[in-house]
Amino acid sequence: MDNRTHILHRDPSHPLPVAVAGDGPYVIDSTGKRYLDASGGAAVSCLGHSERRVIAAIKAQLDRIPYAHSSFFTSEPAEELAEFLTTRAPGDLGHVYYVSGGSEANETALKLARQYFWEKGETARRHFIARRQSYHGNTIATLSVGFNPGRRAVYEPILLPVSHIAPCFAYRYAEPGETPEAYGIRAADELEAEILRLGPETVIGFIAETVGGATAGAITAAPGYFRRIREICDRYGILLILDEVMCGMGRTGRLFACEDEGVAPDLLSCAKGLGAGYQPIGACLMSDRIFEAITTGSGTFQHGFTYVGHATACAGALAVQKVIEEDGLLAHVRAMGAALDTALRARFGDHPHVGDIRGRGLFRAIELVEDRAGKTPFDPARKVYARLKEAALAAGLMVYPGGGTIDGKRGDHVLMAPPYIIDETHVALIVERLAGALDMAIAG
Ligand code: PMP
Repeated sequence: MDNRTHILHRDPSHPLPVAVAGDGPYVIDSTGKRYLDASGGAAVSCLGHSERRVIAAIKAQLDRIPYAHSSFFTSEPAEELAEFLTTRAPGDLGHVYYVSGGSEANETALKLARQYFWEKGETARRHFIARRQSYHGNTIATLSVGFNPGRRAVYEPILLPVSHIAPCFAYRYAEPGETPEAYGIRAADELEAEILRLGPETVIGFIAETVGGATAGAITAAPGYFRRIREICDRYGILLILDEVMCGMGRTGRLFACEDEGVAPDLLSCAKGLGAGYQPIGACLMSDRIFEAITTGSGTFQHGFTYVGHATACAGALAVQKVIEEDGLLAHVRAMGAALDTALRARFGDHPHVGDIRGRGLFRAIELVEDRAGKTPFDPARKVYARLKEAALAAGLMVYPGGGTIDGKRGDHVLMAPPYIIDETHVALIVERLAGALDMAIAG
């Protein structure tokens, strides 16, 4: 294959290697080069690239029936997967709406939230509150609640009006000397202030990533933050929507990342690790009261995509989730996450250009700075994160770097989200190759 393409790639000036095979945590290109996938692509490939049990389940479903439209039929894998998810989900997230990816899952959550209040006659509720340093997807509504300046810029005039409060991001937003608990409460109280400013009777819900992903890199909330958020939502009758598209389905060492926060949302979206890249699939889990408001109200959720409940996608996702459970991979994620954290701290703990090392489970990031003491970011024009990605790829390592300025706070970061099947050898290789790529990116 030559480099001519009819595809509108992300960076059309930059020819991409051609992926032709997978081998556990490795992607192999058409020249035979092997890339250790330390980012799961974009936190997707949680079982690596060659899990035979998942591939077999997909083939078996294709042999039975690939797909039948959801307005006529349900399917065995769709029903079984819904039972699997809802019996393990926190709180009373007893029902599922299937979609094909993360943006659709969040779009669905936003619309379910609005229809919930519409069914109850609370039609004045029309505002969403979200956070800066967040990403919720690429559709107009999910881009509106998200806050990725680069992706928003072109579409700004046609986005929905959404309130954005500060994220809970201690490294960049906590005051010197503030305890993590006090900072968490202060950050959460911004939600209450915004609800009161808008008028509680006009607010539908608050949406946040349980652990922040692509925009700033593996941002875990301060202890108590989400419990306070839950209390505030309940005080004003507002729905809590947690976006676990990137951090959910085992990535943090729990099936649902909010288990570690001690809260259950009213709506929860998941995608990437659900199908692990073997099939495109996402889901929006909803509480029983939302389900009941719609089913006993107008009876129909005013929504729908052609591939809702796609049988082959559901069969693939069900097989993925069974492998995670049967192989005890959540405990393995916690163990390998701790090993990766230890190795990152050993290698970069004193590094002059690594300001922060953070994350949970196999969802980790380092933040790159010009100067550690002042947390001074690199000049954006140097595009350190982009050069690091290139240097890592050249060294046979996939990591997911990003950068950008929000609230005058900027940092280049490198996100790592390796497959749950990695072992200590892979951990050592990730850190070694990352260190080499970092040196090259900074020197360049
Ligand atoms: N939410 C989060 C937290 C994400 O990380 C992403 C994808 N990076 C999305 C939503 C959108 O998912 P998708 O690209 O599958 O539409």
